[in-house]
Amino acid sequence: MRVDEALECAATRLRDRSESARLDVEVLLAHVLGKTRTWLYTWNDHVLTQAEFETFEALIQARSNGEPVAYLTGQREFWGLMLDTNASTLIPRPDTETLVQCALDVMHAPTGCVLDLGTGTGAVALALKSERPGWQVSAVDRVDGAVALAHENARRLGLEIAVTQSDWFKALAGERFDLIVSNPPYIDANDAHLERGDVRFEPHSALIASNEGYRDLEYLIEHARAHLNPQGFLMLEHGFAQGERVRGAFERMGYSAIETLKDLAGQPRVTRALWPAR
Ligand code: GLN
Repeated sequence: MRVDEALECAATRLRDRSESARLDVEVLLAHVLGKTRTWLYTWNDHVLTQAEFETFEALIQARSNGEPVAYLTGQREFWGLMLDTNASTLIPRPDTETLVQCALDVMHAPTGCVLDLGTGTGAVALALKSERPGWQVSAVDRVDGAVALAHENARRLGLEIAVTQSDWFKALAGERFDLIVSNPPYIDANDAHLERGDVRFEPHSALIASNEGYRDLEYLIEHARAHLNPQGFLMLEHGFAQGERVRGAFERMGYSAIETLKDLAGQPRVTRALWPAR
């Protein structure tokens, strides 16, 4: 079978199973052939070997069962960085690039200490380090598999960040930072969003929080105060409908300059605040 035929046929099969069927099949076939998506267009008459065809078929079958493309290829691009992914962490999402942009906008100093809590693949910490090489970037995660993955991504990309295993601040006694960022779990366990798409395959520990999804957001707002330098910022990603309650928590805990920022779709998704009040 030729490349163009294989793509067409697989895209038709996935049409009802994925909102991005055509993109999915291109990414999967490029992965099988070890080529770029552009290559597929240039060499659309290349004939697949039996082995290539069978590997591709197996991936299309897995994708049609709902498995995320990023777990099938083991990779996902974030902030222009190619990251390894696996089932022990959340798949980095374009939405979270908003958190990176907001962090770069709020801290202009070429040096400083930054912490990423619940780093997963290391996406946010690595994006920040790639933009501000002078920053000392630390990243923690509670899950061993995530710590190993973030470590490996940092090594492969040649970006020096310190990755430590820690349940939020537990292993960071006495450490203080100029900026703390996090994309914590913030989805309510009853949210219908969890029944569709990639989230069904992702670790619940990275997605779901008790107290209607606010448990970790509120915990971080309370406990970050002991780990921020004077005039340090805490910056959190949250759901589009959670801004008000998150700002309320920042207010009650005595922060100032509280502001919610929008993602590329215009949704309020990141709230940041200064500690302590000026
Ligand atoms: N924004 C992600 C989603 O909607 C969830 C990320 C998170 O819980 N931190 O799938």
